[in-house]
Amino acid sequence: MPSHAPAPAGHPLSAEDDARHSVAVETMAVHAPVRLITIDLDDTVWPCAPVIQAAEDALLAWLAEQAPRLTERFDAAALREHRRALMAERPDIAHDVTQVRRLSLRALLAELDYDMALADAAMDLFQRHRNRVEPYTDVAPVLSRLRRRHRLVAVTNGNAEVHATPLRDTFHRALTAAEAGAAKPDPALFRLAMDWAGVSPAETLHVGDDPVRDVEAARRLGIAAVWVNRDSQSWPEHLPPPQLAVDDLHGLARWLETVPAHVPDPGRDHAL
Ligand SMILES: [Mg+2]
Repeated sequence: MPSHAPAPAGHPLSAEDDARHSVAVETMAVHAPVRLITIDLDDTVWPCAPVIQAAEDALLAWLAEQAPRLTERFDAAALREHRRALMAERPDIAHDVTQVRRLSLRALLAELDYDMALADAAMDLFQRHRNRVEPYTDVAPVLSRLRRRHRLVAVTNGNAEVHATPLRDTFHRALTAAEAGAAKPDPALFRLAMDWAGVSPAETLHVGDDPVRDVEAARRLGIAAVWVNRDSQSWPEHLPPPQLAVDDLHGLARWLETVPAHVPDPGRDHAL
């Protein structure tokens, strides 16, 4: 998104006042209690690449036993290419990475005269490995503190199942792009989280590692966003700078101590 893009609807400053864009977001965050924190998962609370690699390795080893003609013809890169082609053909399911993997496998199994039902067993195996994430060490201690004062909702484009991970007791709710019907930067996941929590964008803070899918996507909705930059990446020049960049979630917690916080009403929040 170019830096001269108009400010989002509901933005407290005039749309043409680009230079003050980030200042306005900061003002909004400081004056409204943060009732809801939406948090990206992959590469924000745990590293993504190692767990996907391990899951794909396990899947290929299993397929080599169950459907050897498939693994003779398709290595991990060829399978990825097949999924990419399927996503291009089926934009209606492209946001649902589990469905894309399942349908891609079903098509290849059918093409090679295997039982397509093998795809379901393959996906069960893949998911078991996909959920073996190892959260960064700062995540559990910080989020277990923050959940006393804020509603915490995981929002992911990926397919980790939070209830099956070490962070199962950390979030009040976990939402996926598959459930929302669209992947970030589409606003659907943010809207679903805010609807569930019954809060406005001004009462929401988003936390994530991706400049476009997390920070800019949230900002376009009038949601203040924190960029989690664990690997000292450079901020993309074409985007307005993030309101706040932190190395890890301790930085987020320190910053939150300086802004108004919503203290949950035990009557209302009991059922979360
Ligand atoms: Mg991420």
